[in-house]
Amino acid sequence: MSVKPTLLATVPPPLPPEKPLLPDERGYFGEFGGAYVPEILRPNLQELTAAFAAVRNDANFWAEYWRELTTFSGRPTPVTPLPNLSRHLGGAQIFLKREDLGQTGAHKVNNVIGQGLLARRIGKTRIIAETGAGQHGVATATMAARFGFEAVIYMGAEDVERQRPNVFWMEQMGAKVVAVEAGARTLKDAINEALRDWSANFATTHYLLGTACGPHPFPALVTWLQSVAGTEARAQMLALTGRLPDRVYACIGGGSNSLGIFQGFLGDADVTLIGAEAGGTGSGIGEHASRIAGGQGTRGIAQGYETIFLQTPEGQMVDTHSVAAGLDYVGVSPLIAHLASQGQVQMVSALDNEVVEAVKLLMRFEGIIPALESAHGLAAAFRDAPKLSPKDILLVNLSGRGDKDIFTVASALGDTSWAQFLRQKADSMLGVSHD
Ligand SMILES: *Cc1c(COP(=O)(O)O)cnc(C)c1O
Repeated sequence: MSVKPTLLATVPPPLPPEKPLLPDERGYFGEFGGAYVPEILRPNLQELTAAFAAVRNDANFWAEYWRELTTFSGRPTPVTPLPNLSRHLGGAQIFLKREDLGQTGAHKVNNVIGQGLLARRIGKTRIIAETGAGQHGVATATMAARFGFEAVIYMGAEDVERQRPNVFWMEQMGAKVVAVEAGARTLKDAINEALRDWSANFATTHYLLGTACGPHPFPALVTWLQSVAGTEARAQMLALTGRLPDRVYACIGGGSNSLGIFQGFLGDADVTLIGAEAGGTGSGIGEHASRIAGGQGTRGIAQGYETIFLQTPEGQMVDTHSVAAGLDYVGVSPLIAHLASQGQVQMVSALDNEVVEAVKLLMRFEGIIPALESAHGLAAAFRDAPKLSPKDILLVNLSGRGDKDIFTVASALGDTSWAQFLRQKADSMLGVSHD
């Protein structure tokens, strides 16, 4: 594949976006967004909106942000060409943006470091966060340990039971994990508890929301912080291939990693941006988390903002499913809903089994273990590549690494020796004898 060895020089550090993606004064991106919170939370959002506006015009903030990203996390992350897999699939040349190489193994670190610095600026000493699968909780706990914040992570009790490894690490890093017993004991209930805490402890506490969702200013703030991936990737693709990619793919849970990489290419008419949602096991209600691609999502207001939700005609949120816990969410970033409605981002979905196949292919041909979330973007690109020519260049955002998925992948692949290993480990810790 035509990677230009003479152009492999490192690219300059990314600057903040020249034209940040900002909503109107009501917090709306076109028809989506806003801030629907109880009166008691208004001052919190106003303070955060003002602080976000101040740091956008402060070069020192960005310099401090970049220093943490380079010395604590793994920025700049590389772009990796995939020559073996591109040859195997035939057709287009595929490249990966390696957000999996950041601290805690995903793009989430960019957001938590940025919001941590912002919280420190406005004098907060305590961080609270919601987490579903636990990845955002782990990223928040690492940042809090390093920056010296007290951290409380709200997690549905059901999720605490399902995600023991992440709970273990959060606690080891000094965070308090609160298992929320209300409602369905999952993410939505954790968000409600976090908001209750925030209204009671506003003076000391920053609510560190994990993706480009929720009330204004969170979607714009998280999108701004994640721009580093797109800015870097654009310069890296120019350096590696001498031109921009034809298509850029990213998985879409809440929307933050996709908005990060898409920002590098939004103004380029010749670059097609493709967002991959969780197609799950099929198109029935409860079988997937495809809010936009399948056409089943409808406009609604919940969890503090207006977007496309998977809901009943009466506005009840429905169950969602994905093999990737990080994509298993009923709502989506209002900015993604807006860009999709404008035709600026094409939405597709990938089925669980296509995703597991994509994980296998990337491991086997390139020696990279992708997160199940990221493998949705891979699956979409692998579907398209054979229909294209070697002149075509595809870039996929590898939002995270797959080590965390060993339980799910081993069970999807039916690896019985893994199950035996788990039983033996558990038995030896519990002192059970096999004699
Ligand atoms: C959390 C997560 C996602 C989904 O979140 P977005 O806000 O849509 O980026 C995707 N990939 C990985 C690896 C994650 O951990």
